[in-house]
Amino acid sequence: MSPMRDSRRAGDIFIRSPEQPGVRVTFAEAFPDIESLDAAVAETGEGNQGLGIRRFTRLSAREFVNCSNHRCSGKGFSLGELLRAMTRGRRTRLSQARSCLSHEESGRRCPNRFQVDIELRYKNGNAA
Ligand SMILES: [Zn+2]
Repeated sequence: MSPMRDSRRAGDIFIRSPEQPGVRVTFAEAFPDIESLDAAVAETGEGNQGLGIRRFTRLSAREFVNCSNHRCSGKGFSLGELLRAMTRGRRTRLSQARSCLSHEESGRRCPNRFQVDIELRYKNGNAA
């Protein structure tokens, strides 16, 4: 558990499991049951220069969605964590507000928030 190793900001691939945060895998390896993903992320808060809604699919999704507050260290929130929770429960829809996980340089908690709406389709009805 060394936060110093976490210098890649939004890791470009997903962690395999929370127990092994250093092990990075592709989307297909992390979520073999997911056939399609449609995630919409609307950010509100300081530093948000009107990015509007960001959308992610199986191809563009990453473990973290970056925060756009320029004073923030930038981690945003973990999309991977939400997807892992959804696949564990075989949920197909999730609508949730997430706070930015990071802090500003001053040490203040970053105030930015993300409204996240996710739709998943699974490859088949068999449990993983
Ligand atoms: Zn932030």
